[in-house]
Amino acid sequence: MTAAVAEASADALSEGLEGAREILRRTFGHAEFRGLQAPVITEVLAGRSAMAVLPTGGGKSVCYQIPSLMRPGLGLVVSPLIALMSDQVAGLQQAGVAAARLDSNIEPEEKAETWRRIEAGELDLLYISPEGLMQPWMLERLSRVPLALIAIDEAHCVSQWGHDFRPEYRMLGRLADLFPNVPRLAVTATADARTRDDIRAELRLENTPEFVDSFARPELVLSAERKRGAAHKRVVELVTARPDRSGVVYAGSRDGVDKLAQSLRDAGVPALAYHAGLDKAVRNQRLEKFLEADAAVMVATIAFGMGVDKPDVRFVIHADAPASIEAYWQEIGRAGRDGDLAEGITLYGAADMSWALRRISERDMDPAVKQVQVGKVRQLYALLDGTGCRAATVRRYFGEEGVEACGQCDLCTGQVDLTDATEAAQKALSAAHRLGGRYGRGRLVDHLLAKTKEPSDFETSLSTWGIGQDLSANAWRDLVEQLLFEGLLREDPNDGRPLVGVGDAAAVKAVFRGERRVQIQTRAEAPAKARRTRKAGGRDAIAVSPADQALFDALRAWRSREAKSQHVPPYLIFHDRTLTEIASVKPGSRAALERVNGVGEGKLARYGEAVLEVVGGFA
Ligand code: ADP
Ligand code: ZN
Repeated sequence: MTAAVAEASADALSEGLEGAREILRRTFGHAEFRGLQAPVITEVLAGRSAMAVLPTGGGKSVCYQIPSLMRPGLGLVVSPLIALMSDQVAGLQQAGVAAARLDSNIEPEEKAETWRRIEAGELDLLYISPEGLMQPWMLERLSRVPLALIAIDEAHCVSQWGHDFRPEYRMLGRLADLFPNVPRLAVTATADARTRDDIRAELRLENTPEFVDSFARPELVLSAERKRGAAHKRVVELVTARPDRSGVVYAGSRDGVDKLAQSLRDAGVPALAYHAGLDKAVRNQRLEKFLEADAAVMVATIAFGMGVDKPDVRFVIHADAPASIEAYWQEIGRAGRDGDLAEGITLYGAADMSWALRRISERDMDPAVKQVQVGKVRQLYALLDGTGCRAATVRRYFGEEGVEACGQCDLCTGQVDLTDATEAAQKALSAAHRLGGRYGRGRLVDHLLAKTKEPSDFETSLSTWGIGQDLSANAWRDLVEQLLFEGLLREDPNDGRPLVGVGDAAAVKAVFRGERRVQIQTRAEAPAKARRTRKAGGRDAIAVSPADQALFDALRAWRSREAKSQHVPPYLIFHDRTLTEIASVKPGSRAALERVNGVGEGKLARYGEAVLEVVGGFA
């Protein structure tokens, strides 16, 4: 290529990007590209395939939506869930974009109309599931339509190394041969290096550029604590301390979800429960209720999650530990999508860890995959029970380099004190050894204190009976937990009545010889106020000033009426962020309103008059 040609094509590209920026402004109402959006869009506009790993809330969707609007032909978006598709399609329609979806929930007449629009070239974006797309008749029919691009959303679903493997994604590799001239874009929010390689191999994207943004989510304030006593009490405490906010509470089992939701309702929190054991209609109804509420708490298993793009979720609490760091980041990541501060709080225990390890050992899979899964569980607990910045640990896990501490997680703001407990550990290990793995934790602690109810002669005859009276029952429970995390004790889940025995023999021996020290952590919490005053790095933290509160409330009330009448979630009309900006700027004209972030041409045409009227009432 001569210099002149190179320059000309660079010009064409930057013109393409100018056009893309124009659409970003006019259609989506955003002033500038964010993160890696511009380079990804440039690549796809040039007709090349790519893979993009951008954090949740980073704006993955415009990376394929804008090129679909600019390139000739239909943009196909492959997505794993109907909820995800319907949310995006409804959002695009609000912005005035010609978008539709084809899935099993769509009525025949609507399907026929969608096909008519596809074949007449009237549609810009079509959302479809992988199994829907890969049906022979569908591929045949689409092969006769010009395609702008094929986007594969949630691309980590193709990899068994990822955290949400979906076998139907595997078929998508064939798209490379079926549509050799159509650019394909794989996007996901969470994939470590191994998963990324796997995605590229499976989707036949080996020789395409990879855009990996930072995994930082500066709007998320992370914390984790060991479970002590009844975990559900702690969850009720945490939730009631956060009134008038939307949140998600994840629990490990359906039964746990139902009970926790009930405890919250008993405490006056209107909590909804969601899990796969509920009727589909009930689930949909509750999901809708959650999305449409200004403040709602959903208690759920991980069946609830992907596709829940409610932007104003202010906290995610894990009542039981998640399954891996990927799952942790994905689940916590559902908070704060609008870029405002949000919290991720995790409760965890050694029992959660034993369960996770046990589940893997029972699963029928390749030993190599098993080994990786075990490693992932260990890494998760090293994060949860560790002493270094949580956000930084996650980012390093995903392969980021040069990561700095976040300055706002519980470990950055609080302090961890370590106390030597080797001698007490020797007593506990010796007792567990003598009891021979026959009893649970409670009875082990009672044994050390000589408080066992109706002890057997065997128990009272042991030299360890009552040797621990210098410490409290709580201190022993904490120590036992610590020993379990370190693998010095081992817990056999025993179908819900766990039994404690000694763990790794060599390590235990080293403790007895005093070669290995055991330390107990105590975490001092920073005073809540000192926690968060600065603005979240990256995006500005926003807040309604007291003077603007009444206008903000009026705008919210208007939005709520509008949402109800259209039967869509309020955030599809405007985000809280946009309403906050309107309340502060108080635009007096359409031109001024259009300058507000999140107000594009489509929304201006639809809602401009109504919003100006509400603002006018406060002039
Ligand atoms: P995700 O990457 O999690 O799929 P989305 O595509 O849903 O993220 O975008 C998250 C939010 O960020 C949306 O509300 C979207 O409108 C907004 N957004 C996307 N791009 C920009 C941008 N360049 N500037 C401001 N907001 C943006
Ligand atoms: Zn930190």
